[in-house]
Amino acid sequence: MARNPTAANPSDAELIALARQAQQRAYAPYSNFRVGAALLAKDGRAFVGCNVENAALGATNCAERTALYAAVCGGAREFAKLVVVTDDPDPVMPCGVCRQVLFEFSPQLEVIGVGMTGETKRATLRALLPEGFRLKKSPKNEPTGKR
Ligand SMILES: [Zn+2]
Repeated sequence: MARNPTAANPSDAELIALARQAQQRAYAPYSNFRVGAALLAKDGRAFVGCNVENAALGATNCAERTALYAAVCGGAREFAKLVVVTDDPDPVMPCGVCRQVLFEFSPQLEVIGVGMTGETKRATLRALLPEGFRLKKSPKNEPTGKR
């Protein structure tokens, strides 16, 4: 990789590298299924996440939501692309909960699952969650959306 992976507007390869770095920090002692995610905001910044499991399994947080929450905390609200990596040979796409949480912000998000061998699977979030739930008047859609 020639460019700094934290540079603005990272390439797909750089996003995959960022997701792999995040995956190394996953806390997954129960499933041993380590996941990394890199979420590209429309302002060009990339935010990463890993899965963080818990003995109370329902408290577990997926890599995709970890990245999204970090992004929202960093002031980003609109997203262009999400990369998800695992150790599975086949590409893995986000779970239903993550699809809904991401849908709140960017239904047109491009999602890229990357398998351990580099195989990729691409889909829009809207295709993955065709009837995603949104309130007609969500806070994000109000004219004063930037808070
Ligand atoms: Zn999930």
